[in-house]
Amino acid sequence: MSGTSLRVAVVGAGIAGAACARALADAGHAVQVFDKSRGVGGRMSTRRVTSVAGTDAMLGLDHGTPCFAATGADFLGFVEQGQRVGLLARWTPRLAHGAALPGGAFWVATPDMPALCRALLKDLPLHTLCTVDGVRRSGATWSLESAGVTVADGFDAVALAIPPQQAAALLDVHRPDWAARAQAVPMLPVWVLMGTTDAPATGCDWDLALPASGPLALVVRNDAKPARTVLAGQAQWVVHATPDWTGAHLDTPPDQVQAMLQAALADCVGGALAWRFAAVHRWLYATLAAAPGDEPAAGAWWDAGMGLGVCGDALAGGGVEGAWRSGRALAALVTAAASGDQT
Ligand SMILES: Cc1cc2nc3c(=O)[nH]c(=O)nc-3n(C[C@H](O)[C@H](O)[C@H](O)COP(=O)(O)OP(=O)(O)OC[C@H]3O[C@@H](n4cnc5c(N)ncnc54)[C@H](O)[C@@H]3O)c2cc1C
Repeated sequence: MSGTSLRVAVVGAGIAGAACARALADAGHAVQVFDKSRGVGGRMSTRRVTSVAGTDAMLGLDHGTPCFAATGADFLGFVEQGQRVGLLARWTPRLAHGAALPGGAFWVATPDMPALCRALLKDLPLHTLCTVDGVRRSGATWSLESAGVTVADGFDAVALAIPPQQAAALLDVHRPDWAARAQAVPMLPVWVLMGTTDAPATGCDWDLALPASGPLALVVRNDAKPARTVLAGQAQWVVHATPDWTGAHLDTPPDQVQAMLQAALADCVGGALAWRFAAVHRWLYATLAAAPGDEPAAGAWWDAGMGLGVCGDALAGGGVEGAWRSGRALAALVTAAASGDQT
C-alpha cells in the first residue's frame, strides 16, 4: 500500500460495515461496499409486510435487533447526532409487571432499523445481492469472488464486516490464525416470531416484557416504538425465543416453531390472540455470548502488510454499539496504515 487514499472493499453492510465504510470515505478513501442481502442493515433488519389478513397494509416488523443501548460517550454522541437529524429516536418502553428499565432508554432507527445503515452508506457505491465467497490477493491488490466469478478487483485493502463464522471461510487462506479465532467466537442463535393480532382482549399495558421463564426471552410491542405504523385495533409483536430454546429447536420446521411461540406469547399476555399475520425467522448468529467477566475485545483485526481487516460486533463487546465501534476502529487502522503510521 502507498499514498494516503486507498481503494477499499468493505464486505458486509450491517452497522459495522456501514460505520467502517463511512469513516473510510470521510478520510478520503475510495470505498465500495458489498452485501449478500437485498438491502443493508444486516441484523438491524425490518421485515416489510404489505398485506395483513388479505388487506393491503404497509408496515415493518423489526425482527433483528428491536432497539439498542448507547453507553460509551463516543456512541452516545453519534446517536444524539442521529436524533437531531431525525434518524434515531429515544424509546422508553413501559415494562411488563412494572419492572424498571435497566440503563434508562433505548434507541431505535426511524422509520425502520436499516435506516441507520442506509444513511451511513448514502452516496457510497453499494453492491447488494452479492455474496462474497472468496477474497484473492494478486500482487499488491485484492479481488472479490462470488460463485467462482471475479465481481470486483483492484482493491488495496479488504475489510470483512460479517459475522465471525462467515468471515472464517474467507480468512482461512490468508490468515488461518484469524480464521480459527473467528470460528471459535461464541454466538447465540435466536428464533424470532413476528406478526400482528387483534388488540389483546386481556388489555396489555406494557410495551416490552422480559419473561423470567419459559421459551421466551423478550416480547416487544413493535407498534409502541417511535415512528412505526399503527393499525387501528391491532397489536404488532416481535417475540424472541431464548438461546437455549432456540438451540433445542434449530431444525424444527418453521410452522411448528411458529405455533409454539404463538402459544408461549398467549401465555405471556394471559389469553389467546387472534392472529392476522405471522412469520418466524431463525438467526443462527444473532448475538455474542458474553461470559461473566469478559472484557470487551480490542475492536478490530488489521494486517497492514496484507491490507486485510476484520470488524464486527464480536470484536468489540457485541451489540450495535460494539459493531459501530469496531467498524470505526478498523477504518482508523486502515487510515493510519495509509498515512504510514503502522502503530
Ligand atoms: C434477534 C436479535 C436481537 C438483537 N438484540 C440486540 C439488542 O437488544 N441490542 C443490541 O445492541 N444488539 C442486538 N442484536 C445484535 C445486533 O443486531 C448486532 O450486534 C449488530 O447489528 C451486528 O452488526 P454487524 O455489522 O457486526 O453484523 P451484521 O449486522 O450481521 O452485518 C453483516 C452483513 O454482512 C452480510 N454478509 C454476511 N456474509 C456475507 C458474504 N459472504 N458476502 C456479502 N455479504 C455478507 C450480511 O448480509 C449482513 O448485512 C440483536 C440481533 C438479533 C439478530
